[in-house]
Amino acid sequence: MKATILAVGTELLFGQVINTNAAYLSSRLQLLGVDVLYHFTVGDNPARAASALERSIAETDLVITSGGLGPTQDDLTKEIIAEVMGVNLVLDEGVLSSIEEFFREIGREMTANNRKQALIPEGASVFYNDVGTAPGFMIEKNGKTVVALPGPPRELHHLFQKDVLPYLERRTDGVIRYKLLRFYGIGESSLESKLTPLIDGQTDPTIATYAKEGECAVRIASKRKTGEEALAVVDAMEERVKNLVGEFLYSDDDRELSAVVAAKLMARNLTIASAESCTGGLFADSLIAVPGVSKSFDRGYITYSNESKIDLLGVPKDIIETFGAVSEETAVAMAEGARERAGTDIGVSVTGVAGSDGGSAEKPVGVAWICVCGANGRKTKKLVTRDRGRNLNRHIFMLEMMNQVNRYLSSQI
Ligand code: ATP
Ligand code: MG
Repeated sequence: MKATILAVGTELLFGQVINTNAAYLSSRLQLLGVDVLYHFTVGDNPARAASALERSIAETDLVITSGGLGPTQDDLTKEIIAEVMGVNLVLDEGVLSSIEEFFREIGREMTANNRKQALIPEGASVFYNDVGTAPGFMIEKNGKTVVALPGPPRELHHLFQKDVLPYLERRTDGVIRYKLLRFYGIGESSLESKLTPLIDGQTDPTIATYAKEGECAVRIASKRKTGEEALAVVDAMEERVKNLVGEFLYSDDDRELSAVVAAKLMARNLTIASAESCTGGLFADSLIAVPGVSKSFDRGYITYSNESKIDLLGVPKDIIETFGAVSEETAVAMAEGARERAGTDIGVSVTGVAGSDGGSAEKPVGVAWICVCGANGRKTKKLVTRDRGRNLNRHIFMLEMMNQVNRYLSSQI
């Protein structure tokens, strides 16, 4: 099956909104074995939107539109689809009552133009939107399929998963299962070259590597007659991947490193306190983003100045004077100070040079010291990274703190 993704919205052409919907849809369609041939983006202009849709229908079997389904004047996708497919818009009672229900729930008055959202091209199947008001729909005619999804990404993802995916799985005869393995401490190119023997010549399962700042991921996907068969193929390949690069793997279910660390702390009833200098609370923020972590995360000290390291953590003044604020000795005193003052099982600290200034030949921008301490002793790590700019450096430092805590908990020290 060949497909086009047609994004509607002037804000996309202005560069005010990044077209993440196209990326999302393309990556999902690729997994289903649907070939995406075009990405079109048009503004809220009826003539150009209609012409883009006509071309898309002429050249591909499936067109998925995003955006322009809302209640306002500039929302025109539905009208264009009805016109190009040669059908009328009709009022869908089910959609109307679900929109009325939505407004009752949020306690707001429903305006007349919200009724417009209950108009659906005649003969289309409706995708009820339980996370917003604009429903999506699908209409088939002369062997062509047009799917319309609302613009807000959360709503688009939801309707895609709920309605479009099952439909496409039926159409493409076969079921896709995939796993996302996440890695820390290995670069994408090195990951890929280690996996080359597995990647080369593979058609099913497919193995693709992805890079994010400081991390990378491998997606293993298989398409088989049943979900169980596909999953068995994915699992077998996962084992082979683990044999090659398992030491860097931290999650096999797409969970963030912080979620993995939080889960380990909670499962073992361990408590933790953090002392952060240049990351300014990023570590605490990432852990606190995980639900339920109050059981384990006690407190985070943000000790940016030398005085605060001395006052709040009890770092001896002469340690800072002798070794400097960015040093192994200071990192150790910070982690131990946090652990002792908070009375937690584990203490973790970071002190580094985030830039853009403040670097020296001996301690350039991108250098940080990290310490984790607890009942099993302590581990320090000097992190030397290339300078990626202040805020990315801070993010990388935070990830390394998370990694060190993760390793400490796995006792890989
Ligand atoms: P609504 O009922 O919310 O108006 P809609 O289907 O009319 O839904 P749009 O008005 O086109 O959707 O877009 C709503 C918002 O969704 C936009 O302001 C934008 O933030 C986001 N959005 C729209 N299209 C995209 C896209 N292609 N990629 C990412 N975000 C998008
Ligand atoms: Mg809108």
